[in-house]
Amino acid sequence: MDNCIFCRIISGEIPSRTAYEDDDFKVILDASPATRGHSLILPKKHCADIFEIPDDTLSAAAKLAKKLAPRLKQNLGADGINIVQNNGEAAGQTVFHFHIHMIPRYKDPSKDDPKNLMWDHKEFSDDEYVEIVKALKD
Ligand code: 5GP
Ligand code: ZN
Repeated sequence: MDNCIFCRIISGEIPSRTAYEDDDFKVILDASPATRGHSLILPKKHCADIFEIPDDTLSAAAKLAKKLAPRLKQNLGADGINIVQNNGEAAGQTVFHFHIHMIPRYKDPSKDDPKNLMWDHKEFSDDEYVEIVKALKD
């Protein structure tokens, strides 16, 4: 994928701050981090999103997230971690090579932690909830 920025980072054509690498994954620091240590888990084999990623790659990516989580917590002193994965433009995806955001979160006010990673809460009618559950089950 010549025009994919993450493929070019994975191949080494574009430099990145690499925090972890094995045969199947590269983990880089985000160029515009939300917090100190914001990392991206990149599968080396190109796939765009959750709809394309093979099951075994997704499982391995989840395992890697679990392996890295204690490093973010203990080595960087994070108090929590948001694990975020965007699919599609409407969901905020800007790079169409599957990736998992690992975002360390800090209680310490001096760490400049943003408070806006969460969402407003909506309400739906009982009928709408019935419809939603039905749609998800089909
Ligand atoms: P998305 O919005 O697709 O879920 O996340 C893409 C992320 O990739 C963004 O947080 C953005 O800052 C990061 N990013 C985009 N281009 C580069 C780059 O060239 N290098 C690095 N390290 N991160 C990038
Ligand atoms: Zn790619």
